[in-house]
Amino acid sequence: MKKLAVVGSFVMDLITRVNEFPLEGQTLISDNFRCLPGGKGANQAMAAARLGANVMMFGKLGTDSYGDTFISVFKEAKVDISHVRQVEELPTAMGLIQINQHAENKIIVVPGANFGYTLEDLERDFEKICEADIVITQMELKPEVTFELIDRCYAKQIPVVLNPAPAADIPKKILSKVTYLTPNETELEILSGVPVYDEASAEKAIKALLEIGVGTVIATLGKKGAVIGNLSGFEYVKGYSVNAVDTVAAGDSFNGALVTRLIEGDTLSGAVAYANAVGALTVTKHGAIPSLPFSNEVEVFKK
Ligand code: ADP
Repeated sequence: MKKLAVVGSFVMDLITRVNEFPLEGQTLISDNFRCLPGGKGANQAMAAARLGANVMMFGKLGTDSYGDTFISVFKEAKVDISHVRQVEELPTAMGLIQINQHAENKIIVVPGANFGYTLEDLERDFEKICEADIVITQMELKPEVTFELIDRCYAKQIPVVLNPAPAADIPKKILSKVTYLTPNETELEILSGVPVYDEASAEKAIKALLEIGVGTVIATLGKKGAVIGNLSGFEYVKGYSVNAVDTVAAGDSFNGALVTRLIEGDTLSGAVAYANAVGALTVTKHGAIPSLPFSNEVEVFKK
């Protein structure tokens, strides 16, 4: 069976709701707390695993209880985490999230062990990563590690999907080695330097990235779906109309679904249509990992 390698982040989200945010120096009591595993790498790996992909995950965790939680969640999902190391010197990455009654949020991310995944770790893991038919990565590890990964995969001719999230500066020489780049509209604008506000401007931004040498750009457009751009031109793949309750992890589930279908040999437009269905299903539920659909749910939804 073909294999997918996800090289990326784990983040434990610690979420509390309050009526109003505390003022400086103020202590507030909240009666609401949830602790949910997430992080773009982890979400994308879980999304692909739930859709039937054979997934290997690479990254780093602390030896704390959050790290242990990730290990058990991934083992249960049958993701190969044999190369994920737990280290004592750093905590598992955390997202400290406050949400007020207006659904506004304040977030502090502590990268912890995600930034502890070093070039030496990549060096050690790379032979195993090369067993994959496709590699997917994001921008939540140290940029130098992500860039080195892309360089190495390019040299070995392993297709790389880069989900450039959260938005970051990425050198042109790295972008030119990316097989599939999957920005949302904001990331498309930041990476291309072209303001994106309609179809024509999105195409202009995608063209700018193709000129740098990106193989194919698949820009996600929220409920509108996605647009594929490459040397053959542009193709719009319509999204699904659903009752969206929480858009967390939409992009992650889209990416996990996309690579799952590409590995299985689907056409690019077929894979994007499937990813749109998975993204749409994800926004109908709350949370990150809890909202990721299983393949049978997608089959029922697409009928
Ligand atoms: P991100 O979550 O990274 O900002 P998008 O908002 O573009 O990315 O969402 C990713 C994908 O999820 C979209 O291309 C689409 O397939 C799906 N999606 C997102 N929001 C909705 C929505 N409100 N209704 C239906 N599908 C959605």
